[in-house]
Amino acid sequence: MTTTVEGRHRIERVRHEAKRRRLTVESATAVTRNMRRIAFVSPDLADFVSLGADDHVKVFVPDPAAPNGAAMRDYTPRAFDAARRTLTIDFVLHEAGPASDWARRAAPGDLLEIGGPRGSMVAADDFDFVWLVGDETALPAIGRRVASLRPDVRVATVVVVDGPEDVQPFETRADLRPIWLFRSVGALGDGERFVAALRDLPTPEGDGYVWIAAEARAARAAKTFMLEERGHPKGWLKAAGYWVRGKAGESEKLDG
Ligand SMILES: Cc1cc2nc3c(=O)[nH]c(=O)nc-3n(C[C@H](O)[C@H](O)[C@H](O)COP(=O)(O)OP(=O)(O)OC[C@H]3O[C@@H](n4cnc5c(N)ncnc54)[C@H](O)[C@@H]3O)c2cc1C
Repeated sequence: MTTTVEGRHRIERVRHEAKRRRLTVESATAVTRNMRRIAFVSPDLADFVSLGADDHVKVFVPDPAAPNGAAMRDYTPRAFDAARRTLTIDFVLHEAGPASDWARRAAPGDLLEIGGPRGSMVAADDFDFVWLVGDETALPAIGRRVASLRPDVRVATVVVVDGPEDVQPFETRADLRPIWLFRSVGALGDGERFVAALRDLPTPEGDGYVWIAAEARAARAAKTFMLEERGHPKGWLKAAGYWVRGKAGESEKLDG
């Protein structure tokens, strides 16, 4: 286990044993029109561990275009129930991609192999405020994090989605200010929308943790704004490109 203390706050990186698991689809339901929630059950989940809200597993899905017939993609464990040995993953349904296609068609009884999580990053819940910025692929991690935060901590979520039909309610005890940005309104890119919304958001007193995950260019724009224009401390910010426009199966770590 690696522990970094970024100033006053503890951020731990915990490694887990890499393991493949075979899961069976238990149910598939619509969260919103473009997001499908798939619940899996398996005895293989007996020793599954997911400590961080933004952990990810690798899912292995059929891909006729891949040399070995399978593609590997990253997804967030949205919920895990150790007693029932169930794992829930929320899949964004987008135009084309083997993981999105698999999720669109998934039905009870279908099988899916997963690997990981190989590690978790656990940020202490002792920041004065938390800002969570992302697109629909970040909603599972954002939903999980806001549900885990202590009562009354100030949280702002800044999420870009296609329109009001894609809004999800968050379960939380925190003092939450949800900001939804709709692509259906105006012609800005996601990154420009993030920057405009963040510019309008007054910085609360105290120490803040900022987490950003979206399409790589948009995530980079939000990160650059927070570090360069807001002067947010680098150690208290985590950013990732969860997908890259026009490139299959790619993501980008934006740390450093
Ligand atoms: C750590 C991490 C956690 C993630 N967690 C989740 C999660 O819980 N739920 C989730 O839905 N996604 C999540 N993602 C994003 C997901 O891994 C990508 O969207 C992935 O590319 C989807 O695979 P695919 O096979 O459907 O499409 P790909 O084959 O990878 O891509 C095909 C085409 O679709 C485009 N594309 C990919 N994703 C999207 C999208 N969301 N919207 C529009 N176009 C897209 C690509 O640019 C490419 O042109 C996560 C990513 C990371 C790195």
